[in-house]
Amino acid sequence: MIAKTREIYKDKRLTNSLPSVRYVDPEYVYLGITNQRCATGESFVKPGDHVNMGQVIGLRHGPFFDQPIHSTVSGEVVGTIKKFHRSGKLTEFIQIKNDKKNTFADTIKERTDEEIAKLTREDFVEITKKCSLVGLGGSSFPTYIKFQTTDPIDTICINGVECEPYLSADHRMIMEHPRRIIQGCLYAKQAFNAKRIVICIKKKYQDLYDTLTAELTRFPGAPVTVKRVGNYYPQGWEIEMIKTGLGIKVPAGVLPAKLGIMVFNVSTIAGLWRAIKWNEPVMKRNFTCTGDGIKIPTNFRLRVGTSLKEIIDQCGGYNDESENKVLILGGPMMGANLVRDDAVITKTCTSCIIMNEKKYTEEPCVRCGSCVYSCPAGLQPVQIMQAVKNNDKDALKNKLNIKSCILCGMCSYTCTSKIHLTEYCRKGKKLAL
Ligand code: SF4
Ligand code: SF4
Repeated sequence: MIAKTREIYKDKRLTNSLPSVRYVDPEYVYLGITNQRCATGESFVKPGDHVNMGQVIGLRHGPFFDQPIHSTVSGEVVGTIKKFHRSGKLTEFIQIKNDKKNTFADTIKERTDEEIAKLTREDFVEITKKCSLVGLGGSSFPTYIKFQTTDPIDTICINGVECEPYLSADHRMIMEHPRRIIQGCLYAKQAFNAKRIVICIKKKYQDLYDTLTAELTRFPGAPVTVKRVGNYYPQGWEIEMIKTGLGIKVPAGVLPAKLGIMVFNVSTIAGLWRAIKWNEPVMKRNFTCTGDGIKIPTNFRLRVGTSLKEIIDQCGGYNDESENKVLILGGPMMGANLVRDDAVITKTCTSCIIMNEKKYTEEPCVRCGSCVYSCPAGLQPVQIMQAVKNNDKDALKNKLNIKSCILCGMCSYTCTSKIHLTEYCRKGKKLAL
């Protein structure tokens, strides 16, 4: 059973009706040489080099793929500098001084509709690989790998649910760029030769429904449906979204592609539009900076590589400096805590939540079962905690199926004794490797 905790969504109201502020001209941008999926990488530039927007300036090496690094401004390379990555790790970044001329690399050029109509699935793989497109909802999964599936795809399912509290970056993406989203969907349909596209949004967001359906009138005959799904967390988990949005239950351990379904986040599909239409990598993204710890919660359209500190200043700075702050990069349920604000906004950062710290004391487990009832993956979080405490790798792996945990945070959120169960799950996943 999934707990339907409606009250936690009220905090989205801080920002979801606010148009995105364009903050696209920081003095410097910082592009990570490595990231959470690519442990090694190399820079192709040196201090003093001039670079253009979209130019390849390095290459990250993942376990089974390489990922080009693109400059997101035109300007001069300053050198490399260590800063905090969204994963919380101190990471080496290439620092570029923005000349604010917005000069594009030669590779960025428009494809005509006729050229696009001739693109094959292999072309989509090549383009998204070169443009380094990844899951922009936070997953960072390389998009070209999705295009490489050998499974026949019948349905493209677009995740516009954004179910974590506080976040509104995707909400603004739909409100501000519905045409890019629909066009991106049609490109994906072409690549997979799919029959239908279903865009899932929360039932309660009439503004999103009206915007998308109005835009669809420009695409007569397009097999696109807007499906209004539940208002609860974790409705945006793809398995849950497919169940509600398409009425299909994906069995545990089975990829949706095996059932003919390919899922993209709404920002990723807008990124696909840009990659196909303009051969452009992700250089800007929507980002929400919100919470009771800053003065002016704001949505931004910003340059990838912008310093978080600069964005906090744009929000008027911290609210009540005397209070300790908690910074979470990503949503409050699944995001990562930051120890300081000297972090960089990468292309997979959706948001930063800044809260005044509230101290909770963990109490002993009272065996109420709330964590078990609330787990969307049907796991036993309380048992997982015990297995982690006992260092019982075998139980974690075989009996408790820790692999199926999606680190959604529901067990911590619902725990009567305020135990950080999700942290135990995170440790359990590492132990069971
Ligand atoms: S974090 Fe894992 S164990 Fe906890 S509720 Fe979510 S899926 Fe279940
Ligand atoms: S919700 Fe908390 S107190 Fe209740 S059984 Fe789970 S761990 Fe124990």
